[in-house]
Amino acid sequence: MTEKLLKELKEKLKKQKAEIENQLQRFAKRDQKVKGDWDAKYPAVDGGVGSQALEDAADQVEEYVTLLPLEYNLELRLRDVDLALDKIKKKKYGKCEKCKKKISEERLKVYPEARFCGKCEGK
Ligand SMILES: [Zn+2]
Repeated sequence: MTEKLLKELKEKLKKQKAEIENQLQRFAKRDQKVKGDWDAKYPAVDGGVGSQALEDAADQVEEYVTLLPLEYNLELRLRDVDLALDKIKKKKYGKCEKCKKKISEERLKVYPEARFCGKCEGK
């Protein structure tokens, strides 16, 4: 892999990281104790009475339940992006974690945070 491509991919990864963190911040707060862990904000139910308050609370809980998988997904992507950036730093980037062979440049261009080659991923 050329230095130029590596630099390009690094920039791409950094941009992705910023985007994912941005999205996460909208509905999750960073867990201060566990690095890289985010918790979805649980809706604040104001404790109102009556059917309207109950409905509002139900809506908020529903939203929370819909957001959880998305939050989890973003967290996983962020972890992969972080891993990839770490590998670049350690000059181990672009190798399949399973078979240790090089991941094709075409694949990395589309999917710079790839941890496995196309063959291993497909299995
Ligand atoms: Zn592989």
